[in-house]
Amino acid sequence: MKLSKMHLKTLREVPNEAEISSHILLLRTGMIRKLVSGVYGFMPLGWRSIKKIENIIREEMDAKGGQEIHMSAVQPAELWEESGRWYAYGPELWRLKDRNGRDFCLGPTHEEIFTDIVRNDISSYRQLPMNLYQIQTKYRDEARPRFGLMRSREFIMKDAYSFDRDEAGLDVSYNEMYDAYDKIFARCGLKCRPVEADSGAIGGSNSHEFTAISEVGESEIAYCEKCNMAATTERAKCVDAPASNEEMQPMEDVLTPDTKTIEDVANFLGLEQSRTIKALLFVTYDNEGKENGYVAAFVRGDRELNMTKLINAFDIPEHAIEFADEAKMAAATGCVGGFTGPVGLHDCKLVVDSELVGLRNLVAGANRENYHTKNVNYGRDYEGHIVADLKVLKEGDSCPVCGAPVKHARGIEVGQVFKLGTKYSESMGATYKDENQKEQLIVMGCYGIGVTRTLAAVVEQHHDENGIIWPMSVAPYHVIITLINPDDEAQAKVADDLYKELSKAGVEVLLDDRKERPGVKFKDADLLGIPVRITVGKLAADGQVEYKLRRDADKEVLTAEEALSKAIAIVNEEK
Ligand code: ATP
Ligand code: MG
Repeated sequence: MKLSKMHLKTLREVPNEAEISSHILLLRTGMIRKLVSGVYGFMPLGWRSIKKIENIIREEMDAKGGQEIHMSAVQPAELWEESGRWYAYGPELWRLKDRNGRDFCLGPTHEEIFTDIVRNDISSYRQLPMNLYQIQTKYRDEARPRFGLMRSREFIMKDAYSFDRDEAGLDVSYNEMYDAYDKIFARCGLKCRPVEADSGAIGGSNSHEFTAISEVGESEIAYCEKCNMAATTERAKCVDAPASNEEMQPMEDVLTPDTKTIEDVANFLGLEQSRTIKALLFVTYDNEGKENGYVAAFVRGDRELNMTKLINAFDIPEHAIEFADEAKMAAATGCVGGFTGPVGLHDCKLVVDSELVGLRNLVAGANRENYHTKNVNYGRDYEGHIVADLKVLKEGDSCPVCGAPVKHARGIEVGQVFKLGTKYSESMGATYKDENQKEQLIVMGCYGIGVTRTLAAVVEQHHDENGIIWPMSVAPYHVIITLINPDDEAQAKVADDLYKELSKAGVEVLLDDRKERPGVKFKDADLLGIPVRITVGKLAADGQVEYKLRRDADKEVLTAEEALSKAIAIVNEEK
């Protein structure tokens, strides 16, 4: 492709809302174009890279026996009602009505559709196992679309679904997909860490996220260098502090004026924060969106409440619980903002972190303005309706597997694999007949990759202050020929010959034949991040060119023939 003919609009300035490198660079290179918040289109260079990622995914999915299909983005509400997700998916589900008032949504994922296919088409054990996948546009009306392609409202996803006769079959399918994901992300040039994950709204029992390590990632992961445990902090189990063998002391209310935070109370009483109880107050909603109850959650003062664990303990959707209006909750339950404790609360569900059960003589809010209660003890003074691990595993906490201190890292969730089990086949009636003609539920798994998010993750891991540094495998073009002076005959001839020879060898090559200053061309080449740059300038008169890799600082002078064979070799090796 000749750059003079290509539709390319690079930007010098990008909108303020672009905060992270991938968002800034994808906009500056003109690879993506914003339409409205969280909705982007792809221009020629961007679309080429997307197609490369898609093809890597296709090759690895096909290698595992996956069969590609393509389903509609428009999905009828009835299927979602059958699975119970029309309500459970909440406001992220992009809903619409047709002219007759019938409900539809734009698919955020396709479990219902794929389950519907197999319940119609599969009848015998002989047809299983099976793996179907698609690469398709998804819609999620995210509360906070941001970071460009990272969290958008319209995005491309590869979603695969496996169908097996039994759990053992699912294990095999799951491991195959896990293996395919390792290969896909490695081929895209991503440094990825698979971590245990929560299974969220999709449901199911077992799940891993593939996290591209990056400081700007929204996923926080906890990992252990000693035993290899790795999990999202949402999911990671925590080790309870050992139970105390102190004698229980009598409760006593003490005046603690203006001590609304744990830090204030601990300082005021001269105690460690770990000797206090922290309260967090919530309200829950029913299927119609009406308030249907209050929740007070309690963790040790120095701990952080893990919302995912709280939601799982209640088994309600994420959108059915939020922080309570303290004044309203106080009137109903007797809590007092800033001074709430578990003793004497009424008309609300008490959810207590498991660790508090074994600890003794803690300080908690007295449910009285400006008072705390000393020597509060579980069992004697209060009990929980639910007792569960509700804590966030923090950096330095004990590893739940081996006890060593855990570390934290941030990353971008580029893919996720789930064992769904029979969640959908049960609610939607997807069965097959086994060898004995007995009806059995199909056992399912589902496997997603964010194609557009993967593109952003690659840029996040591969850039410098001058622009993108594409790995060969997903670069929009392999080689850029920077022709310094298109009006110089010798230069134009060398550049043109190189262009033709490279193209003939199957190398994807861009020829910068624009009438621009050399400085502009070099800047653009760096910004676009094409892996190999061949500069054709004055030396062309002697048949020489300059050869440089985007990722390296140094360049070398070679004959045009040498540059040609070097470029072909590296492209073939790395593409
Ligand atoms: P997240 O926790 O980031 O919202 P998720 O757990 O909801 O992701 P899945 O339902 O597992 O995501 O979707 C599969 C893949 O689709 C994710 O691993 C991610 O790469 C991608 N993805 C999900 N939501 C978005 C989004 N809003 N924008 C871009 N990609 C997304
Ligand atoms: Mg999500």
